[in-house]
Amino acid sequence: MTTPFLPFTRPSLDEATIQGVVEVLRSGWLATGPNVAQLESALSDYVGGRPVKVMTSATAALEIALLAAGIGPGDEVITPAMSFVATANVIARVGARPVFVDVDLDTRNIDLDAVERAITPATMALMPVHFAGLPVDMERLYGIADGHGLRVIEDAAHAIGSGLPGRRIGSQGDLVCFSFHPNKNMTTLEGGALVADDPAELRAIDLHRFHGLDRNADGTMEVSLPGGKANLTDVAARVGLGQLPLLDGFNDRRRELAGRYFDLLAGESRLRLPARGDASHSWHMFAPLLDLSQLKIDRAGFIALMKAQGIGVGVHYPAIHLFSHYRKLGYAEGDFPNAERIGRETVTLPLFPAMQDNDVDRVCDVLCRILAENAR
Ligand SMILES: *Cc1c(COP(=O)(O)O)cnc(C)c1O
Repeated sequence: MTTPFLPFTRPSLDEATIQGVVEVLRSGWLATGPNVAQLESALSDYVGGRPVKVMTSATAALEIALLAAGIGPGDEVITPAMSFVATANVIARVGARPVFVDVDLDTRNIDLDAVERAITPATMALMPVHFAGLPVDMERLYGIADGHGLRVIEDAAHAIGSGLPGRRIGSQGDLVCFSFHPNKNMTTLEGGALVADDPAELRAIDLHRFHGLDRNADGTMEVSLPGGKANLTDVAARVGLGQLPLLDGFNDRRRELAGRYFDLLAGESRLRLPARGDASHSWHMFAPLLDLSQLKIDRAGFIALMKAQGIGVGVHYPAIHLFSHYRKLGYAEGDFPNAERIGRETVTLPLFPAMQDNDVDRVCDVLCRILAENAR
């Protein structure tokens, strides 16, 4: 019997959710409708009662958050050089300048000392990422933002369910964006959400999300800004309604599996393990760094050897400032050493709620054997 391939992530959809989706498909109402309203209300409860708007992706949520906050040409937004590229792309897309700063090597979170040094009179907002689900130091982050009159747009794509009880990510702070892509801790197929408080901004979010359209009391229409189209379908929302009650259980299981990785990999000197965090960590992914100086193979070679043994390994992420678009803005190799080192050495090991303990054991066995066999 061959062992089935173990991907680095896989969504968990239960049968009740699949049946619920079938019912929506048969209902005759597929676009935005009652399931979207119900998901927004359930997510709002989940983040302590703050208003939540769902949309087609976190990328759309981040872009709309910037637009709703009035950020555009001439403005600077400070953001980490290590993240998924969407974080920086949305800043560029609204015409503002992404100002990169380095991250901590082990937490992978934005370096808040570097944030303070990067603030200029043009800075309008901070866009941190709760990397892999480990919350950024919120007190210090908001201390800096408040001290300089800056907005905060949290890229919480990895962080639905992160945070200690009563202090969940999204339940406090400024604009907060979640992702429900299938790789994230809960899914709506594709999808995202934006948490906001200000009534004028909530209205702007609605307009940007759906063509800028308003309906007047007499049934006629009005368009006050050229909105886009990012509304979620009821089919997708039904998936989210099935996922949300399972989320805390998913994240508990992620923490257990991550704990097992720490136990089994503690003695592996060719790996640098990520910061362990505490119960606030939702372990969106487990991504150690490979010490390539101790190995005869490169990262691609390591990934290929793992794959040949039936184990999927991801790369999250290349440093953003080294992509050609961002080099054109003046960034270069050497600007952010930690982001660059993570970009070169990071490997994402399998971690998802349906994994068994012995899946972690197998990953660690195979990985340690490959590292030993290819030691320099
Ligand atoms: C996945 C991800 C996004 C984008 O999420 P989508 O829902 O796919 O648009 C943004 N930022 C980070 C850090 C992500 O990992």
